Amino acid sequence: MSKNLKLIFLGAPGAGKGTQADVISEKYGIPTISTGAMIREAIKNQTEMGLAAKAYSDRGDLVPDEVVINIIKERLAQDDCKNGFILDGFPRTVPQAEALDKMGVEISLVLSLEVEDSKIVERMSGRRVCPKCSASYHTAYLPSADGVHCDKCGEELIIRRDDAPEVVVSRLFVYHEQTEPLKEFYGKKGILKLVMGQEEVADTTALTIAAIEESLAE
Ligand code: AMP
Repeated sequence: MSKNLKLIFLGAPGAGKGTQADVISEKYGIPTISTGAMIREAIKNQTEMGLAAKAYSDRGDLVPDEVVINIIKERLAQDDCKNGFILDGFPRTVPQAEALDKMGVEISLVLSLEVEDSKIVERMSGRRVCPKCSASYHTAYLPSADGVHCDKCGEELIIRRDDAPEVVVSRLFVYHEQTEPLKEFYGKKGILKLVMGQEEVADTTALTIAAIEESLAE
């Protein structure tokens, strides 16, 4: 359990932010807040926000800033965020990062998970997710035990709509255009560290933990 470790995981879609966030969340006893997972849940439950977000998400575009900022504001106000959290997939634009500053949230460290575009495309084509509990697998790198069902809850795994190849290309474009400038934003604040994505998930985890520990020791 670490005191007030407030992390942001940056990185292209499919870079492995969610996978790393799961391990780090467990190790440091802090919740992972994934705006993507919250949006998918809202779409599944056909809430007003979900219905508004669906078209953007289906074509690989970002949901409007004000929608996501409201989701995050509500979520960060909850009790379990008091001792820290991991933001996975937020902020994704400079206005979102500025909104976080305005909320008075003091981020400890921003980790940017660096993976080449060609690798991302290869990874996303093999991604399988659980529609029930959101666990994420990969046909080659992280298969579920039987390759068909979720190890955690037994539900049949699916391919995310936005993991379709043409949508992946568009999501990468959006990442470079709108999200990557956040590296400069947080670099200027002196709280950015790059983590080079490795072939093995565990090797990337080791680098991620090393970066967090280094920052805690500073
Ligand atoms: P993710 O699972 O993080 O890749 O998010 C899936 C989709 O949800 C994205 O392609 C966006 O349409 C939407 N989304 C998630 N987080 C954000 C965000 N911070 N800002 C805008 N849209 C988002």
